[in-house]
Amino acid sequence: WLLKQSSRMRTVWAYKILFLDVLFPLNVERILFVDADQVIRADLADLYFTDLKDHVYGFTAFCYSRKEADGYLFWKQGYWKSFLQGLDYHISAMFLVDLSKLRTTLTADMLRGQYQMLGRDPESLSNLDQDLPNHLQHVIPIYTLPREWLWCESWCSDEDKQKAIIIDLCNNPANRSETKLESAKRIIPEWQALNDQVLRDIQQGGFEKMEL
Ligand code: CA
Repeated sequence: WLLKQSSRMRTVWAYKILFLDVLFPLNVERILFVDADQVIRADLADLYFTDLKDHVYGFTAFCYSRKEADGYLFWKQGYWKSFLQGLDYHISAMFLVDLSKLRTTLTADMLRGQYQMLGRDPESLSNLDQDLPNHLQHVIPIYTLPREWLWCESWCSDEDKQKAIIIDLCNNPANRSETKLESAKRIIPEWQALNDQVLRDIQQGGFEKMEL
């Protein structure tokens, strides 16, 4: 009964956030979503077992330490600014969900209701997997994870990169022509070595069943 999405990208975004209560068996109590274009420099178990202090979600807040991005901070103006009332706007490239709590609080039902209501306006929900949990914050607060867990060049400063644990290749609103592979080589010093290692493993048959 939910509004259908016409683009495949938006359908994937919808599944990623709207159906987490029914996608997994009941004995799965927690999930960690990690975007496929991230390089992780630590043990993800530390993140997975973060104490969410009784929250349904753990997200990092959108970074705004890069001065060149000042003109693109959409949540610091207009609709989002007045809606958030000083709360952070969070990024959906990586997030933690306490599924048990998501189910008992009926959070996914609330998200689907919001999706149905806001989705009628074609101008809204341009990043629906991100907009919906942020929009529900006054009812279902988000636990803000320490910001070193997610760094991306478009929004975060070079200084913050020194402490970055996860590097995401998020889109750059000022430069849309660079491909993800070009970005990876330019931004992540260890990427080439990691890529070479994967290629060697494939040649040795280690990943023969994996479709790359
Ligand atoms: Ca990403």
